[in-house]
Amino acid sequence: MAPVTVKKICCIGAGYVGGPTCAVIALKCPDITVTIVDLNKARIDAWNSPDYKLPIYEPGLDDVVKQARGRNLFFSTEIDKAIKEADLIFVSVNTPTKKSGVGAGFAADLNYVESATRRIAAVATSSKIVVEKSTVPMRTAESMRTILEANSKPGLRFDILSNPEFLAEGTAIGDLFAPDRVLIGSLQTPEGKSAASSLIDVYAHWVPKERILTVGLWSSELSKLAANAMLAQRISSINALSAICEATGANIDEVAHAVGKDSRVGPKFLRASVGFGGSCFQKDILNLVYLSESLHLPEVAAYWRQVVTMNEYQKRRFSKTVVDTLFNTITGKNITVLGFAFKADTGDTRESAAITLIRDFLSERARVTIYDPQVDEAQIWLDLQEALPDTPLENIKKQVIIAPSALAAASNTDAVVIATEWKEFVEIDWAAVYGTMNKPAFIFDGRAILDADELRKIGFTVKTIGRGVAF
Ligand code: NAD
Repeated sequence: MAPVTVKKICCIGAGYVGGPTCAVIALKCPDITVTIVDLNKARIDAWNSPDYKLPIYEPGLDDVVKQARGRNLFFSTEIDKAIKEADLIFVSVNTPTKKSGVGAGFAADLNYVESATRRIAAVATSSKIVVEKSTVPMRTAESMRTILEANSKPGLRFDILSNPEFLAEGTAIGDLFAPDRVLIGSLQTPEGKSAASSLIDVYAHWVPKERILTVGLWSSELSKLAANAMLAQRISSINALSAICEATGANIDEVAHAVGKDSRVGPKFLRASVGFGGSCFQKDILNLVYLSESLHLPEVAAYWRQVVTMNEYQKRRFSKTVVDTLFNTITGKNITVLGFAFKADTGDTRESAAITLIRDFLSERARVTIYDPQVDEAQIWLDLQEALPDTPLENIKKQVIIAPSALAAASNTDAVVIATEWKEFVEIDWAAVYGTMNKPAFIFDGRAILDADELRKIGFTVKTIGRGVAF
């Protein structure tokens, strides 16, 4: 069966993955028309904004959109039209962890994937290659195929591929331009392999062939969960060691350096922190836990669950360090939290450790000042309301100030907490800040980005994640 030459792509879901991924495909494949669609009109309007105020912050993204938008890249809410016209459709919708019902807290909520799939079935008038771009539980491709076959017009073919996305927010454009690998999973039938060839031809516009891996559908779905689980596991491992460092006088950076020099371990992803956040790590591990439990593999489930437990512990441990150090009470004290995004170079706040810390501080009746260079006020209020559902927003607002700059936030406070590793926090004039602070003046560096020795010279009391007191 000859592979279809892809001429028109539709991407359902204009979020952190669908937007950048398909914008890069459009940039690199001028012969393919790419239409990215979403139900969320405000999001599409932002993608189309004349001054490139895009709905997500990602270094280099506006450049890509500037080059391709209007040429062969389009953002639209006309979902049915884009589906009808496309030969290949990416499904890149959200797959959050279920909040209620059976499997709540662990299983993925597949409502969005199913709705998108049903839409494709309802409106398609020609055969399609349908690509899972979302991170999904294993064998979701099978459910998609069943839905498509049961609901579409007679005589149409739907080939399902799995093509999980490995980009990291903050470096998405670099990751997409030069991916470590592109993974394509298909049924190992002639039709499945032919559909995979069509997608390979798209990526081959810019990705070297040896970096495009083709595997079976189920291996592809599991590989994405496994990759995120193993990355998160590295962070939880180094964070577990950071607790030992703080208690013994060892330095986690030195330990990570020494361990990472072993070529079997490698140096990347060994930075201790206040805990991982983001929309993926926890969700994908819990997905793996749920899968293991459904397969009656309780020990496997317990093994992966511990990665998340460790992460929760790390955040709690850090909050407790702040309270303990401030003489066991932060009631009425001013705590400044620098950073609200889950990591630097993104405005994404999903599962951000900062939110957990702030919730803890507010529960202890502290006053909290927040600053983040990329997260807007409305998002901060939304996240705090979600974190404290029983507290009316007006009461939260009485305890919280959102500051216009890092310097303004850090001044006139009792303690500064670094929650996100934004570079600008390193560049603050800490000596000037010290002069404005209540004494003793505390800094809690949850990302180990500041020079603690220099700060101590100024007069600060400094606690850095993973650094014990030397003797
Ligand atoms: P997102 O929430 O930013 O975007 C999803 C978009 O899909 C939303 O804008 C939503 O309105 C839209 N949508 C939902 N249902 C729709 C429908 N039926 N029709 C049209 N639009 C619809 O999510 P995201 O961060 O882009 O993640 C998407 C998927 O990619 C998830 O499965 C996630 O696990 C996975 N993933 C995310 C990342 C990441 O770093 N964010 C990395 C790799 C993989």
